[in-house]
Amino acid sequence: MTSVAQNLQFVRSSIKEGVRLIAVSKTKPVAMLQEAYDAGQRLFGENKAQEMREKHQALPEEVEWHFIGHLQSNKVKYIAPFVRMIHSIDSLALLQVVDKEAEKHGRVIDCLLQFHIATEETKFGLSEEEAVALLESDNYKAMNHVRLCGVMGMATNTEDTALVRQEFRHLREIFQRIKQHSFAEATYFKELSMGMSHDYAIAMDEGATLVRVGSAIFGQRNYAI
Ligand SMILES: *Cc1c(COP(=O)(O)O)cnc(C)c1O
Repeated sequence: MTSVAQNLQFVRSSIKEGVRLIAVSKTKPVAMLQEAYDAGQRLFGENKAQEMREKHQALPEEVEWHFIGHLQSNKVKYIAPFVRMIHSIDSLALLQVVDKEAEKHGRVIDCLLQFHIATEETKFGLSEEEAVALLESDNYKAMNHVRLCGVMGMATNTEDTALVRQEFRHLREIFQRIKQHSFAEATYFKELSMGMSHDYAIAMDEGATLVRVGSAIFGQRNYAI
């Protein structure tokens, strides 16, 4: 067995029932994704539009591609034909572009609203007030080619597990309020995307339905090359 397959098997054995594992393959070569694919993995996460497009072309059609990073409006066109879910909607303007690009391909693209739950300034995401304003806007109500399926967030990168847990819990509370407010009848509004290699166990405890795990499967990323 390859090390990717071994890592995957280990991570999978720790995933709770009802939680879906996204293998975050950003910066990693196609051959490593293929190893994960051969070991049965179908959900992959990427954070650069062109990189995702290239990998989509190189891997089987069965792969479900999840876009998890900050998405610039002018890059949406690269992924609109095939992306399965965009986790990182952080503005009405971005959602409008996704809606337009999806329409060009006759698709409805599943999206998550990304919330800023960490103490770090650098992480992207909406506040709850901004999300409510987005959901109540006429612009949003006129969209027919995007479907909001839940929320996404990243906890603070810290050893303080109590803080991480509190942040995930906060995201779940936001999810519940938004569901009640705007999606009470919508069975598809059910996703809580939270948890990475070092904190997905806590995220699952706090109700994650999608966990995004990269380095625990593919090894550390080397951004120098
Ligand atoms: C890179 C990344 C991950 C995976 O991080 P690991 O620590 O390697 O598991 C998860 N979510 C987002 C948004 C990412 O950018």
